[in-house]
Amino acid sequence: MKMLNQVKITFAARSVNEGFARAALAAFLVQLDPTVPQLADIKTAVSEAVTNCIVHAYPDRIGPITMTAAIYEGGVVRITITDRGVGIPDIAKAMEPMFTTGDAEERAGLGFAVMQNFMDKVKVSSAPGRGTRVTLTKRLDARA
Ligand code: ATP
Ligand code: MG
Repeated sequence: MKMLNQVKITFAARSVNEGFARAALAAFLVQLDPTVPQLADIKTAVSEAVTNCIVHAYPDRIGPITMTAAIYEGGVVRITITDRGVGIPDIAKAMEPMFTTGDAEERAGLGFAVMQNFMDKVKVSSAPGRGTRVTLTKRLDARA
């Protein structure tokens, strides 16, 4: 797959930056002329990944989040969201719908399920104490 364009942004894990990440991503993807639903799907998935870094990755400090977005031939979009936080001890378990280590009143444990629903592929790699990377891939079909 030939990469046509790429961008990389690092920002602090503060909740105000979730909106920034969504807007920056949308601005980058405009060159693909996505439909409104296509863009909404990708922004929703990325919001979940960024929110996870903000909520879970750094329990006692504000660390960095790096987002890369790349466009490949054939309308394929790949986004990575990386943190240097606590990591995920059991990835398969964390990805189960309704699993959460967060506050049960606030967290549904559905973030990964949402990502999987809105993207073609979701890959998670993580090392406890070193951080987590979520890779989200989706092919945008050409407009009819
Ligand atoms: P919701 O997304 O519905 O608010 P949630 O964040 O708990 O709830 P998921 O997004 O599915 O649910 O994540 C499941 C679990 O995976 C989290 O509760 C947390 O334990 C772990 N997790 C997810 N992302 C990270 C991360 N970047 N760093 C550390 N742990 C994470
Ligand atoms: Mg979540």
